[in-house]
Amino acid sequence: MLIMLLGPPGAGKGTQAEFLVKNYNLAYISTGEILRSAVKKGTPLGLKAKQYMEEGQLVPDDVVVGIVKERLADPDCRQGALLDGFPRTVAQAQSLDQVLNDLGCKLDAVIHMAVEEEELIARLTGRRVCRDCGATYHIKFNPPKVRNVCDQCGGELSQREDDSLATVTERLAVYKKQTEPLIDYYRQQNLLHTIDGNQDIDAIAAQISAVLDKLSQ
Ligand code: ADP
Ligand code: ADP
Ligand code: ZN
Repeated sequence: MLIMLLGPPGAGKGTQAEFLVKNYNLAYISTGEILRSAVKKGTPLGLKAKQYMEEGQLVPDDVVVGIVKERLADPDCRQGALLDGFPRTVAQAQSLDQVLNDLGCKLDAVIHMAVEEEELIARLTGRRVCRDCGATYHIKFNPPKVRNVCDQCGGELSQREDDSLATVTERLAVYKKQTEPLIDYYRQQNLLHTIDGNQDIDAIAAQISAVLDKLSQ
C-alpha cells in the first residue's frame, strides 16, 4: 500500500501519520522531517535546504525528488509506505510517477485533508514538537499531559522556527500557488479522497481508516 497525505501546512498530516504508520505498518516518508534532520546535522543536503526552509519556500524539486527516490528503495518500504509532504509541486508529482513506474509500483490513494485558513494559522502558531522523538502537540488543541514535556518519551517540546506568524503566512501562500494544483492532478487520476480536516483528530483518523480499509479489501 502506497499512500500520500496532501494538505496545507497545519492540516494535521503529521498527526494522522503517527497513527497511520502504526496501524497499517507503513514506512514513514516525510520530506520535511528528512530535511529538518539534515539541517540540524549540517550535512550538504541540510546546507542546501536551510535558507529555503527558513523563508517558507520550497526546496528545489530535484533535491526532494532525489531524497524520496533513495528512501523508496529502502527495504522497509516494500511492505508499504506513507508519503507526508511530498509531492508538493506538479513537477514533483510527475517525477514520482516516473520513479514508481521504474520500481514497478504505483500510488494507491491520495488523502487530501481540507482545513480553513484561519484554523491553519491557529494550529501552526500553537504547534509544539518533541526535540527527541518528533511527536507533535498543540498548546490548546492537543496539549501534552505535562506542560512542555513529551507524553511519549519525556523529551522537551519546542516550537519550529518556521512556525512564526510571518513564515506561516508565506508557507500558506506557497501552498496555494504551488501545491494546490495537485488536487486536480490526483482527481484526474482517480486517486483523490478528500477528508474534512476541521474535525477532531480521532474523527479524521476514523475517516482515513475507512478509506484505507476499503482499499485493502
Ligand atoms: P508542514 O508539516 O508544516 O507542512 P513540512 O515539515 O512538510 O511542513 O515542510 C517544512 C519545509 O520543508 C517546507 O516549508 C519546505 O521548505 C521543505 N519541504 C518539505 N517537503 C518539501 C517538498 N516536497 N518540496 C519542497 N520543499 C519541501
Ligand atoms: P501538518 O503535518 O499537516 O503540518 P500537524 O499534524 O503538525 O500538521 O498539525 C499542526 C498542528 O495542529 C499541531 O500542533 C497539531 O497538534 C494540531 N492538530 C492536528 N490535527 C488537529 C485537529 N484535527 N484539530 C486541532 N488541532 C490539530
Ligand atoms: Zn518525544
